Amino acid sequence: MMNLPSKVKICEVGLRDGLQNEKVIPTTEQKLEILRGFIDAGYPVIEVGSFMHPKKVPQMADTDEIFKKIGTLPAGVELRALIPNVRGVQRAVDCGCKKVKLNVSASRMHNLKNLNRTPEESVAGFADCVEMANKNNIAISGSISMPFASPWEGRTPVEDVDAIIEAYLKVGINEISLSDASGQAVPNQVYELCRHVLEKYKDATWWLHFHNTRGAAAANILAAMQAGMTQFDASFGGLGGCPFVPGAAGNVSSEDVINMLDEMGIETGIDVLKVMNLSRKVSEILGHGMDSYVLRAGRSCDLIAKNSEE
Ligand code: ZN
Repeated sequence: MMNLPSKVKICEVGLRDGLQNEKVIPTTEQKLEILRGFIDAGYPVIEVGSFMHPKKVPQMADTDEIFKKIGTLPAGVELRALIPNVRGVQRAVDCGCKKVKLNVSASRMHNLKNLNRTPEESVAGFADCVEMANKNNIAISGSISMPFASPWEGRTPVEDVDAIIEAYLKVGINEISLSDASGQAVPNQVYELCRHVLEKYKDATWWLHFHNTRGAAAANILAAMQAGMTQFDASFGGLGGCPFVPGAAGNVSSEDVINMLDEMGIETGIDVLKVMNLSRKVSEILGHGMDSYVLRAGRSCDLIAKNSEE
């Protein structure tokens, strides 16, 4: 029998990874409404925004305000924000954000384009962030972009990934996300890298972040689950991309992932119909369609009810 988990944790990243690539940006009030909608739909983890320089990522300039305004959260809900450096931790402290995520690319060239520094320089900056986060009771995690392949260098050597994982562990970060931002990963490679890190780094916890650039995201999630992974990012309506990656497409759609897991009998605690309704609303705000199969086709379990009425 297939080795599968009974429960999976999904982080909604559309408010950050999705909206940061949009031309039309929802107002802060609209973002708050979407965020409350996600909380109501049952998401355990939501990536709300980022503390990048507002000139560099103007779409995320109101992240501080959103944290200040969201109010008391239901028990068990975790909101996180992406940060570039120690200034990001300071902003988290100031606005009441309790969890931050650093990023470094396993591709030297991507890291230079994205963060304007080499992976080694990024790693050198981690210790300061962890120190300030610890002092202020802020949880800190780390992400590795392009751990499978990059558009500039092809397949990423496992040693490069190991070096970054070890740098994270060394500064005291043991929650790590493997992010296929360029959508180049394939299932057998995903399975092997997941097995590798699970066996080698027993004290770490893992997130997987797949973009559906080449249609392999759902297959990659299945491969990761079979390897023993249980935490995945997804973006409502399949929003997302990366301004530095040629031909980049959105994250795997939350609706598609949650629906697939529902049909497989794997619990997420998230109401997919509520997510679909939110996507439709945001689609109107953004002025374009959403890239989600389930949003277009509907749930297969709804077809039976519909067809039996006819
Ligand atoms: Zn992404």
